[in-house]
Amino acid sequence: MTAPIYNRVALIGLGLIASSMAHAMKTGGLAGEIVGYAKSADSRAVALEIGFIDRAADTAAAAVVGADLVVLAVPVGAMGAIAADIGPHLLPGATVTDVGSVKQAVIDAVAPHIPEGVHFVAGHPIAGTEHSGPRSGFASLFKNRWWLLTPAEGTDPAATARLRHLCESMGAKVDEMEAAHHDLVLAVTSHTPHLIAYTMVGVADDLRRVTDSEVIQYSAAGFRDFTRIAASDPTMWRDVFLTNKDATLEILGRFTEELFALQRAIRLGDGDHLHAYFTRTRAIRRGIIEAGQDTAAPDFGRAQPPAKGNAG
Ligand code: NAP
Repeated sequence: MTAPIYNRVALIGLGLIASSMAHAMKTGGLAGEIVGYAKSADSRAVALEIGFIDRAADTAAAAVVGADLVVLAVPVGAMGAIAADIGPHLLPGATVTDVGSVKQAVIDAVAPHIPEGVHFVAGHPIAGTEHSGPRSGFASLFKNRWWLLTPAEGTDPAATARLRHLCESMGAKVDEMEAAHHDLVLAVTSHTPHLIAYTMVGVADDLRRVTDSEVIQYSAAGFRDFTRIAASDPTMWRDVFLTNKDATLEILGRFTEELFALQRAIRLGDGDHLHAYFTRTRAIRRGIIEAGQDTAAPDFGRAQPPAKGNAG
C-alpha cells in the first residue's frame, strides 16, 4: 500500500458518489482519515455503521477543519450554500473539489466563497448508478470511468495534479476541459437522455391505464433498457436541469427536430429515410461500445450490478 495522497478528506454529502469515493480511498489507502457530513443524522449514522468514514461531524464547517481535501458531493443546487458555510474554516493550502454533474453553475456558486490560498478544482466523475444514499456506494464505481476536471485558469497545477492522482488511484481515467464545454458534452451524453427516459416513463404510465400491466410484463422489448435511468434521484436531476438550462435546451431543440423528421418519415412511409437513419445510429452506437464506455452484451452489462454505469 502506498502513502495516503491526502491526510484528511472531508466528504460533504454521503450518498452514492461520496460513499463510493470513501470505499475506493479506503481500499487503496489513499486518505489518512475520512470525515463525513450529510444533512440527516440518519445518513451520518449509516456511514459510520458501514465504516466508510472514520468520523462524522455535526456541521459542514466542522467537517472541513484540518482537511487537506474537501469534496462537495451534494446536489448541484446545494453547493453554493455549503461553500459559504465552510469557506471561513478551510485549511490554507487545502484543495476543494466537487462531483456535481454540472460545472459552470457550480463554479459560479462555489468559487466566490473559496478564500485566497485554497485551491478549487471542480470535477465530475462520469460514473453512477440509478441508486442513491450512503448504502449505494461501492469501491469499483470509478474503475475505467472518466473523471473530468474543470480547473479555472490560473489554478495551481500542483493542486490539480494531486487531485488527478487521487482520481486515477480510484481507478478513473482523468481528462481536463473547460466548464462550459463540459456542460454541453454532458447535455448530449447524459442530461438530455435522462430527460427523455423520464418522459418515456411518463408516457408509459399514461398508457398503463389502457394496457394494464403489459408495460411491465413486456418491458424487455426496449422499455426496460431505455428507462432504467429514469429511476435516478429526483432532487439531483431537478438541479441538473435548473443549472444546465442553456445546453440542455439546445440539445432538446435538436432532438425535437430529429424526432419530427422521423415522425414525418413514418407518416409518409419513407422506409429509405428510416433505414438510413437507423444504419447511421447503429454505427454510432457500436462506436460507443468500441470506445469502452459500454459492453456489447445483449443486456449492455447490466446483469452484474457493479459494472453498470450511467452518470449524471
Ligand atoms: P445522493 O446519493 O442522493 O446523495 C446526496 C447526499 O447529499 C446525501 O448524503 C444528502 O444528505 C446530502 N445532502 C443533500 N443536501 C445537502 C445539504 N444541503 N447539506 C449537506 N448534505 C446534503 O447523491 P449522489 O448521486 O451521490 O450525487 C451527489 C452529487 O454527485 C450530485 O451533485 C450529482 O449531480 C453528482 N453525480 C451524481 C452521479 C450519479 O449517477 N448519481 C454521477 C456523477 C455525479 P442526506 O443523505 O442526509 O439526505
